Amino acid sequence: MQLDFEPYFGGLKLNFEKIWSKKTKFMRESEIRALLKWISQGNIISFGGGMPDPKNIPKKELAEITYNLLLNRGEKILQYSGTKGTLELREELLKFMGKHGIKFESPENIIITTGSQQGLDLLGRIFIDPGDTVIVEIPTYLAAINAFQMYECKFIGVPVDDEGMRTDILEEKVKEAEGKGERIKFIYTIPTCQNPSGVSMSIDRRKHLLEIASKYDLLVVEDDPYSYFLYEPVEFKYLKSMDREGRVLFMSTFSKILAPGLRVGWLAGDREAIEKFCLAKQSMDLCTSQLNQFIASEALRTGLIERQLPKIREIYREKRNTMLKSLETYMPEGCRWARPIGGMFIFVWAPENVDTKKMLKRCLEKYRVAYVPGRSFHVDGSGGNAMRLNFTYPSKEEIVEGVKRLSKAIREEIESS
Ligand SMILES: *Cc1c(COP(=O)(O)O)cnc(C)c1O
Repeated sequence: MQLDFEPYFGGLKLNFEKIWSKKTKFMRESEIRALLKWISQGNIISFGGGMPDPKNIPKKELAEITYNLLLNRGEKILQYSGTKGTLELREELLKFMGKHGIKFESPENIIITTGSQQGLDLLGRIFIDPGDTVIVEIPTYLAAINAFQMYECKFIGVPVDDEGMRTDILEEKVKEAEGKGERIKFIYTIPTCQNPSGVSMSIDRRKHLLEIASKYDLLVVEDDPYSYFLYEPVEFKYLKSMDREGRVLFMSTFSKILAPGLRVGWLAGDREAIEKFCLAKQSMDLCTSQLNQFIASEALRTGLIERQLPKIREIYREKRNTMLKSLETYMPEGCRWARPIGGMFIFVWAPENVDTKKMLKRCLEKYRVAYVPGRSFHVDGSGGNAMRLNFTYPSKEEIVEGVKRLSKAIREEIESS
C-alpha cells in the first residue's frame, strides 16, 4: 500500500546553510573518501586507500575469539565500560609495547581510542585553540591534517628528506615562530615508516628532535602504526623510549597489524595528559566498543598478533618489491621515489610539470587506476606533482598492471605539456 502525503507548507525546504556551525562550513570531503566512492564502482586498480591485504585478515581466528568471548563473558562484555578502556587490553598493550621496546609504568599511562583517528581528534580537543600552531612534517598524514584543522590551527610544515624530518629546519622554524609570539602546541611526527613518504627518521635526527623539544619546552606526538613490521632489519629507537621528560605522547593502532574495521587504537604517555584525554573522550563516545577491545586483547593474549606480524612482513615485503620493480621498469624518465623499509606506501614524484590532481580524473576514467594526489599531504600547498601509491591492498598482478597504466598516463601528461 502506498500513502501519499501532502507537504505541510507548500514544500518550503529547510535551509541548512542558515544553521551550519562555523566548524561545519570548514569541513571538506577528504580526497581519499571521494576516491573510495569511485573505486567502489569497481573495475579500478586502487593504489588509493591505506588498507591491509584483505586475504591476510585472520577471519577464522577472530571468529573463534569472538564466539568464545560472547559465549563465556557476554554479559559483561556487552555492557558499557570505562572511558579509559578495559584493563585487560591496557595490560596486554603494556606487555606488547614493552616487548617492542617502549616501557610504561602502568596501564594508567594508556587510553584506548576508537582508532588512532579518535586520538588525533582528542589531541585537537585538549590542546588546540583557534589560531594555535601545530608543527607537522611535509608531507604528512592527510587524516591528521584534517583532524587538527577542525580545531582551526595554523600549521608549520617541516620538510622530510631520506633521513626523515629536517630537524635543522625545525629548529629555525620554532625559533622564528617563538619570536613572533605564536603558540606552538605540539610537533606531530610519524618517525618510523612515515605516511606518505615511506622514510624513517635517523637516530641522530630523533635525538635532535628531542633536544629541540626540550630546549623550547614542546610536546611531541609520535604516531606509530607501522614499526611492528619492517621489511628490512634497520636500527631505530622509538622517540618515546628516548624521552626522559614526559614530553612524548605515543599513539598506535590495531588497524595495520590486525584489522582496521575493529576501530581500536591507543594513546600512551604522561598520566596528566591521559586523564585529560579521558575527560575529552567521555563526550565523544563514552567508551570504545568493549567487544572490539576484548577481541583486540585476546588477539594479543593468545599470540594471534605475534603470529600475524611475520606474515604481514612477508606478504607486504614482496608486494613492495613488486611495486618497486614495476616502477623501475615502467616509469618514465624524471620520476623518483623513496624505497620504504616499512609501511604501506611508495610516494612517487613525477616531473614538475605533471599535475597529479588533474591527471587523476583521466587515470580513473581512461586507465582505471587510482592513487592519492600528493598535494593533499602538504600543508604548504606543494606536492602538486607527487602521488601516494598503496601496495598492500592490490594483488601483485594488479600492482604490475596498475603501475604500467599509471606510467602511460604520466608519459602522456609529460608529452602534452
Ligand atoms: C593508518 C594510519 C593510522 C591509523 O588510523 P586508525 O584510525 O587507527 O585506523 C594512523 N596514523 C597513520 C600515520 C596511519 O598511516
